[in-house]
Amino acid sequence: MVCIYCQADTKVVNSRLQRRANQVWRRRQCLDCKSIFSSIEAVDLSLALSFRTSQNSSVKHPVKTAIEPFQRDVLFTSILESCKHRKTAISDATALTSTILSRLRPHMKGAVIDRDQLVTTAQQILKRFDKAASVHYSAYHRL
Ligand SMILES: [Zn+2]
Repeated sequence: MVCIYCQADTKVVNSRLQRRANQVWRRRQCLDCKSIFSSIEAVDLSLALSFRTSQNSSVKHPVKTAIEPFQRDVLFTSILESCKHRKTAISDATALTSTILSRLRPHMKGAVIDRDQLVTTAQQILKRFDKAASVHYSAYHRL
């Protein structure tokens, strides 16, 4: 990785495996301007996972299924939206998104996340966490 300030090469001065989140955190220092910043190495879920939605479109074409790359940010944003009445909304949404995804892992078949399974899991986790957040989420995500 190059320096975020001057684009010169950097060296890793410290690194830590965050086992629970399956991430590697690294402290880097620029070889030129000596600035310090950190980076995180994580699995790219958008490349690793697919997302399957199915909708009842019409009588002629009963169930339509679509598969697209899974976007963690979309899930995060919907959780954040449901938690916005909380002072700690951003950190809550970050933690809840990780919890939802790790809860879903055993249900993923061939690295495909089913939309209904995702919504059900998110509802269960939000219900235990914050009643208002769960009501808000359910209103926007019907099964
Ligand atoms: Zn630099």
